Amino acid sequence: MNQRTAPPPIPFIDVAAQRRRLGDAIDAAVARVLAHSQFILGPEVQAFEKELAAFCGARYAVSCASGTDALMLVLMARGIGPGDAVICPSFTFCATAEVVALVGATPVFVDIDADTFNIDSKMIGPAVATARRLGLKPKAIVPVDLFGLPADFDSVEAAARAEGLFILDDAAQAFGATYKGRKLGVFGDATTTSFFPAKPLGCYGDGGAVLTDDPAMVDVLKSLRVHGHGSDKYDNIRVGLTSRLDTLQAAVLIEKLKIFPDEIAARGRIAARYAEGLRDIVSVPKEPSGCMSVWAQYTIRVSGGRRDTLAAALKAEGIPTAIYYPIPLHRQQAYKHYPVGEGGVAVSDRLAGEVISLPMHAYLDAATQDRIIGAVRRALKRG
Ligand SMILES: *Cc1c(COP(=O)(O)O)cnc(C)c1O
Repeated sequence: MNQRTAPPPIPFIDVAAQRRRLGDAIDAAVARVLAHSQFILGPEVQAFEKELAAFCGARYAVSCASGTDALMLVLMARGIGPGDAVICPSFTFCATAEVVALVGATPVFVDIDADTFNIDSKMIGPAVATARRLGLKPKAIVPVDLFGLPADFDSVEAAARAEGLFILDDAAQAFGATYKGRKLGVFGDATTTSFFPAKPLGCYGDGGAVLTDDPAMVDVLKSLRVHGHGSDKYDNIRVGLTSRLDTLQAAVLIEKLKIFPDEIAARGRIAARYAEGLRDIVSVPKEPSGCMSVWAQYTIRVSGGRRDTLAAALKAEGIPTAIYYPIPLHRQQAYKHYPVGEGGVAVSDRLAGEVISLPMHAYLDAATQDRIIGAVRRALKRG
């Protein structure tokens, strides 16, 4: 095929474009780590933790090996385990509930709001009632800031405080996003994020962090990430994990954090352009007033079984799409035996059949985006 009939395929997330922009700075940062060779908890780790906390306004950041471990470390620090219930959405990446199961507690699934893809606060009280009816102790809630959009913290906090729940915000997709003028990392009792390469702030491997204002929790998290150490490495006062952020990844992240505000602005412009080009023809994502998304995904909704036709039409034009998430957690083999809160999860079930995410990253240029918008419009008009 020549270029006229088949334009070059578009990447879903172009990690290489950012690499080109950062090239020399990253190489120099990596070379510094290779020179001092303190690969585990080297000086860049502490420096990055300070910068990460300052970036979002949290008092402390504790880095670790992944976003999943970050969630798990907080649950461990809280002593959450068998007999406890943790409320979380069903429409999320599996890690949100996986960590609850891993510590031996019970996830109780709640529904989301169809307009925001985030937890529906009205469902928190009923889910707590479900947990109690099953003889479980409701201990925590994990709101998720899905696709980069902050959860509705005012209503989540009101509902969670009324039930005495610890609030652990899973901001793996949304670090850098803003709720009512403040960045995520300061809402609830602790926030976690992920530096998986495809997340808005990604590194060159796996990584994660916990943000909190609680110094006592910081001490426990730092112990847990190194096998539950006490006064020294060979004094073990609790059962922990091996979960550090590599010094090399911290060095990469220090450089990436410098251009992150600029990338967030670019993502916002690209999302606005998608909305302009598509909103008359399909359901586009909205930012409720007071919220600024970092657009980890640009997820539109196509109803009436037309989604697969759209995906196939785009694929034929070299445009990749993704379905986040095709099966909500309450229907997954590993999680379907866990309870669903009173009130059900009808919206999660419906949206799983409608969502489709378009290519989205800070380096998506206007010409490429126009190609995507044109292809979506043609496909939807046809079918
Ligand atoms: C990516 C993700 C995680 C897990 O992060 P990892 O760093 O891949 O372990 C957790 N929760 C959500 C919502 C995510 O999108």
